[in-house]
Amino acid sequence: HAKTDGRATCRFYHPGMMEESAHRKRLEDALSVAFAQDQIICHYQPQFDARSLKMTGLEALVRWQCPQHGLIMPDHFLGIASDMGLMARLDDAVLRQVLRDTRAWASAGLDVPHVSVNISAERLTDPQLGPSLRALQIVPGTIVFELLESVFLDGADATIDKNLAMLADLGIEIEIDDFGSGHASIISLLRIAPRRLKIDRALVQPIVTSPQRRALLETIIRIGRMLHIDVVAEGVESADHVRILQDLKCDILQGYALARPVPPGQVPDLLISR
Ligand code: C2E
Ligand code: MG
Ligand code: MG
Ligand code: MG
Repeated sequence: HAKTDGRATCRFYHPGMMEESAHRKRLEDALSVAFAQDQIICHYQPQFDARSLKMTGLEALVRWQCPQHGLIMPDHFLGIASDMGLMARLDDAVLRQVLRDTRAWASAGLDVPHVSVNISAERLTDPQLGPSLRALQIVPGTIVFELLESVFLDGADATIDKNLAMLADLGIEIEIDDFGSGHASIISLLRIAPRRLKIDRALVQPIVTSPQRRALLETIIRIGRMLHIDVVAEGVESADHVRILQDLKCDILQGYALARPVPPGQVPDLLISR
């Protein structure tokens, strides 16, 4: 179902069950506190124009800065946050930090690129999304929302359609994230008219060794071009990936080969050197 993506879900019926449910309970308690104490933060991963390899954007990625356990990655707490009904709140906390950070960088005279923010199904279907975004006075064209393709698999939804129209109104662009990881066809995505399509790293990474995979990716990139949708490749991990994606005329690259996610304090240096 669109509301949970299977990450970090509880496994039932195994010997460690008792320990696991106790562990989970502690995590839930700690996560409730995390929101109250501003421990939900984000790091930023640069994105690059494939041709020039100049930085063109940043993706905000949530982290849990836990006083006991240090920096916790999303795969370890998004499933629980989702089960607890906290995803809309989490997405909101990240967006608020992004707006604080980008406003501070801009005031310091830096040329800030657009920032992509991941948005859960809970947040996209929230009737309060419109009023909440309006109050934030986002400058049109500065924020992109990344939506998982699975969000749209349930078919037509009146709240989603209404919120998508509202986002277009506010100048917030839509990007489909992890394209090719689920079952959405490129046709079904046309209804959303995304500005960008981000190809899942499971489709990107095999292109070095498999000509078939390369052909598949080339086809997706061509379709994107025909539809005026920018194609982003994620999980770009090697120089071979970069070279092949450039050959295939992919538009935007993101991955460890080019830059890892960094804490906000390191972003100004990246912006100065670009
Ligand atoms: P995503 O949106 O597909 O983000 C890309 C993930 O791939 C990030 O993991 C990033 O650190 C990682 N990555 C980047 N480059 C490479 C690479 O070259 N190789 C490999 N193997 N991985 C790479 P991260 O930060 O752990 O985030 C995991 C997922 O959690 C995200 O996947 C996104 O679906 C979700 N997420 C993160 N932040 C938020 C948020 O604020 N709200 C919501 N709703 N979901 C979020
Ligand atoms: Mg994303
Ligand atoms: Mg992705
Ligand atoms: Mg992903």
